[in-house]
Amino acid sequence: MEKPIVAIVGRPNVGKSTLFNKLIGERRAIIADEAGTTRDRQYGETIWNGRVFTIVDTAGLLVGDDDPNLPLAEIVRRTHQQAQLAIDEADVIVFMVDVREGLIAADEEVAALLRRSSKPVVLGVNKADTEDRRQNAVEFYNLGLGDPIALSAYHGTGSGDLLDEIVNNLPAGQEEEEDDNSLKIAIVGRPNVGKSSLLNKLVGEERVVVSNIPGTTRDSIDTKLTYKGTPITLIDTAGIRRRGSIEQGIERYSVLRTMKAIERCQIALLLIDAKEGPTAQDTHVAGMVLEANKGLAIIVNKWDLIDKAKFSYEDAKTTMSEVFHFAPYAPIEFISAKTGQRATKVLDIAQTIQSERAKRISTSDINNLLRAAVREHPPTAMHKGAHLRLFYATQAQAEPPVFLFFSNAPEQVHFGYKRYLENRIREQYGFIGTPIILVFKGREEEQTVSVSGKR
Ligand code: GDP
Ligand code: GDP
Repeated sequence: MEKPIVAIVGRPNVGKSTLFNKLIGERRAIIADEAGTTRDRQYGETIWNGRVFTIVDTAGLLVGDDDPNLPLAEIVRRTHQQAQLAIDEADVIVFMVDVREGLIAADEEVAALLRRSSKPVVLGVNKADTEDRRQNAVEFYNLGLGDPIALSAYHGTGSGDLLDEIVNNLPAGQEEEEDDNSLKIAIVGRPNVGKSSLLNKLVGEERVVVSNIPGTTRDSIDTKLTYKGTPITLIDTAGIRRRGSIEQGIERYSVLRTMKAIERCQIALLLIDAKEGPTAQDTHVAGMVLEANKGLAIIVNKWDLIDKAKFSYEDAKTTMSEVFHFAPYAPIEFISAKTGQRATKVLDIAQTIQSERAKRISTSDINNLLRAAVREHPPTAMHKGAHLRLFYATQAQAEPPVFLFFSNAPEQVHFGYKRYLENRIREQYGFIGTPIILVFKGREEEQTVSVSGKR
């Protein structure tokens, strides 16, 4: 099921990220550990009254947004952009204001924009830490956005009321998407990197398009084809992008649509423009793919434009490996969607990654690996000289691969040691292009584990 998106908008410093962190706090920690990237998250999953939804801090989506030295006019402009982004792409908008500052003109302007949209808006009046301040929240009725909900993101009070209101406004549960068992590949990347060109090339080469269904409830277009006998669905994020009222330029920061495509795919092909090179936004998107536990390949397009005498394949490969150092297992390929050079190879790569994701290692094999790994490099002793022990391991799940390790002190297994074990697994078994997840448990703990990322 496609998860609804709830976007938090509002001026800087009203408490958006505080609320966001409160709502996804627990997950945040886990994710940071797994992805090996240190960035702040801008979106996360949360559940309330049985409804699962994705919550987005729109401020984080705009690069440089948290710069405190921005002039006021710029702050207002960006807040408007966020609101517009949310109107175009979210299912419910949480508009946050600050009761301590009271109702100010900038809030009224954004409110006007939100009122004109057809999207449900929940008005959160933050920093209502005391009874007095909660009373003051009534002032915000003047925004014409319905009942203000007084809350203190900081203390957590009132957030339950806010969540109730969010859930009340979520679209009715959508039908489970019918799964045709095809391999779902998302083509993602910044505008103009060649996503549509690649799609057209792949479709043209194959000439076996079954259908081209414009997404009705979703923001991407699915193209179905068969490649070497495998049914494939290409999820394209480019097709419908020039709708809506987002001004040119802001669009390139809009990762909501990319995020939805990533949610729905098994493998994401991240396209980079060879001429322009990778940007921070690209590493960011790569991080999103890994956090979602999806397969990842880095595809450098427009390779035909590169003068190889000046910038060789080796140079390019080195650059890319450095930029995407946090995913050394992701394949990197250089193509030209225009000339067709190696274009279909991206489908071979996706198939390879998929089979890696589906791979299962037998319990005896993984335990042999664990024993050898511990013998060669035992985990450091715990305090008071007690031994940290890893008793046994098993692969609990595929797609994505999840390994369980049982220990006498699972919480004391260091990040570095987890890395070491992951590297050992990869040395022996590859798992090309896919995150693998290592979970450490006490011996007595229940042996069930479930990690999302499978479709
Ligand atoms: P953002 O820029 O909207 O994301 O705002 P932040 O979440 O970064 O918060 C801005 C400041 O307001 C921080 O110093 C927070 O600690 C503070 N803050 C956030 N929520 C509350 C609250 O409920 N009460 C009070 N008193 N301060 C808060
Ligand atoms: P999208 O916004 O990511 O869908 O990018 P498009 O597919 O619309 O391509 C943007 C521009 O780059 C168009 O002018 C394409 O013709 C051009 N382009 C795409 N792929 C290549 C390529 O491999 N080589 C060259 N030289 N141009 C390309």
